Amino acid sequence: MGLFGGRKTVFVDADILVIGGGMAGCGATYESRYWGRDLKIVCVEKANIERSGAVAQGLYAINCYMGMQWGENQPEDHVRYARNDLMGLVREDLGYDIARHVDSSVHMFEEWGLPIMKDPKTGRYQREGKWQIMIHGESYKPIVAEAARKAATEVYNRIMVTHLLMDKTKANRVAGAVGFNVRTGDFYVFRAKAVIVGAGGASHIFKPRSVGEGMGRTWYAPWSSGSAYALPIQVGAKMTQMENRIVLTRFKDGYGPVGAYFLHLKTYTQNGNGEEYESKWYDHTKELVGDYIDHHPVPTCLRNHAFIEEVKAGRGPIRMVTKEAFQDPHKETVGWENFLGMTIGQAVVWASQNIDPKHINPELTTSEPYVMGSHATCSGAWASGPEDYAPAEYQWGYNRMMTVDGLFGAGDTIGGTAHKFSSGSFTEGRIAAKAAVRYVSDMGKGQPQVSEQEYQDLERLIFQPMENYRVGRNEITAGTVSPSYLLPIHGLQRLEKIMDEYVGGTSTNYMTNDQMLNRGLELLTMLREDMKRMGAEDLHQLQRTWELHHRLLASESVTHHTLFREETRWPGYYYRGDHMKLDDQNWHCFTLSRYDRNTGNWEMEKAPVYHIID
Ligand SMILES: Cc1cc2nc3c(=O)[nH]c(=O)nc-3n(C[C@H](O)[C@H](O)[C@H](O)COP(=O)(O)OP(=O)(O)OC[C@H]3O[C@@H](n4cnc5c(N)ncnc54)[C@H](O)[C@@H]3O)c2cc1C
Repeated sequence: MGLFGGRKTVFVDADILVIGGGMAGCGATYESRYWGRDLKIVCVEKANIERSGAVAQGLYAINCYMGMQWGENQPEDHVRYARNDLMGLVREDLGYDIARHVDSSVHMFEEWGLPIMKDPKTGRYQREGKWQIMIHGESYKPIVAEAARKAATEVYNRIMVTHLLMDKTKANRVAGAVGFNVRTGDFYVFRAKAVIVGAGGASHIFKPRSVGEGMGRTWYAPWSSGSAYALPIQVGAKMTQMENRIVLTRFKDGYGPVGAYFLHLKTYTQNGNGEEYESKWYDHTKELVGDYIDHHPVPTCLRNHAFIEEVKAGRGPIRMVTKEAFQDPHKETVGWENFLGMTIGQAVVWASQNIDPKHINPELTTSEPYVMGSHATCSGAWASGPEDYAPAEYQWGYNRMMTVDGLFGAGDTIGGTAHKFSSGSFTEGRIAAKAAVRYVSDMGKGQPQVSEQEYQDLERLIFQPMENYRVGRNEITAGTVSPSYLLPIHGLQRLEKIMDEYVGGTSTNYMTNDQMLNRGLELLTMLREDMKRMGAEDLHQLQRTWELHHRLLASESVTHHTLFREETRWPGYYYRGDHMKLDDQNWHCFTLSRYDRNTGNWEMEKAPVYHIID
């Protein structure tokens, strides 16, 4: 029996369980200890928090810093900025809450040893843009992880969390989580009074532009498997804005970031004929979205839109004009270093394709869509807002608590609040943790109870793919195609193809419509049926299987939301061909969904957008 025979069940009790030790999870772990001195705080992570999450490789800039100490920006300014970029739809209460606290997080990072560049003339942090400050960020994640490690009672690395557990004594209350150790195969049961999910967004739900052996190269971290969405969805938490997927304009083939190039190096783009093209699409875009095109800065999706249309019109490729800026040796150094701290792969791609940006203007492209709640889009869970600021309709409990009692979230997990980035995600983790500590102390003795039956059933379910493989493998003599099981890579590619072709991926130029979405849902349902047949050769493949389960659930959510919103709110992110125009009269609202795991149904509804800041 080997691996199966040796499997242990490990029980861990916690007051607060933090799932995912990325930026939000580290913030949550750190702050839980600050407010809950005597509490048992456990952080569980599928990789190792030292280098996990989207920030694992390091960053070159912290993208959310107000600079209130120097009067540079106020929290209200950031809310206005995010609202404008999201075409009017953000949770202003949540955004304001992060913005008013984010500077203090950044100051802590500096205290903990993160080198932040300074403007030699003013002594202030070196700005890359209005909201960004520049850092020597190769060790950003280890620095933040160290603070979390010291704060946690225990950190469990290499545990893939697959499901949340619900309280058997009280409906709609969370009681913990289960998962397995990806190295030993041990089964873990975490029993907790409160759970904070910080499990990152979703890459690889749409087919990537990179193919073959390069398939793992995506903009968003390939290990971001949508657990932040799937875990709450499975237990009936409401989600919001899941249709609001993000498409990035990036350097071609390496997905290298362009922010520092535009903002700091002052480079600009041109079409294949060497012409400026964005302004040509002004009238066309105005037709679709009205006055939003006149807003400053131009919303990110609309800039993508001009790019996509120009390429469709046959005037690609779009290039970044670097030849001028790179004549300045300082700028040339900054240009390269920008990749070395964050996306080394882009420098390697340029080297391998004979691109020296001093002599050749490199190509840009628009990426496949991703789902995330902390970058320039705001997919995620519907959360209660801050007591002192949120409108009554946005408050049903503790700050950042989802619609499931005791279940909190932060970072990519929480919807409605774009542009939090690394610092804002960490800050939101802190906010959620403070509220979770209060939730636990208010709970008194009536703590949640885990059902033995529930976790035993889940154990069987979780390890079933290994059994499927063990038995089914005997039916074939060679190769990977079996009549009895499907490997995770097969399932992943099928998912990506469905999402790409029916839900607005690159192969349709981000276009979809009612019929395509409904057909996509049919195919996703068939994939779901086949998920029972997954075969996992080893623990690594078992992890891939559960990541696929999470990606699939996140994808279903995206598809239902996209179908529900009958307008094109964000041209450049996706298009509803049957509703090509932005429709403020009917759709200036949030979309909410709730999945019922007993029936498999998705309920959709609208929620109002309150503009708190003028
Ligand atoms: C390519 C890219 C570039 C970026 N550039 C910048 C930048 O320049 N500046 C900036 O400020 N921000 C930047 N960001 C944004 C920033 O990285 C994110 O906002 C931030 O990391 C989100 O924090 P999070 O905790 O929600 O997710 P993450 O930091 O990604 O953490 C999620 C964690 O959950 C773990 N996890 C996932 N699933 C499970 C599971 N099932 N069980 C257990 N653990 C799990 C993951 O391993 C990971 O450690 C960038 C993001 C990306 C993707």
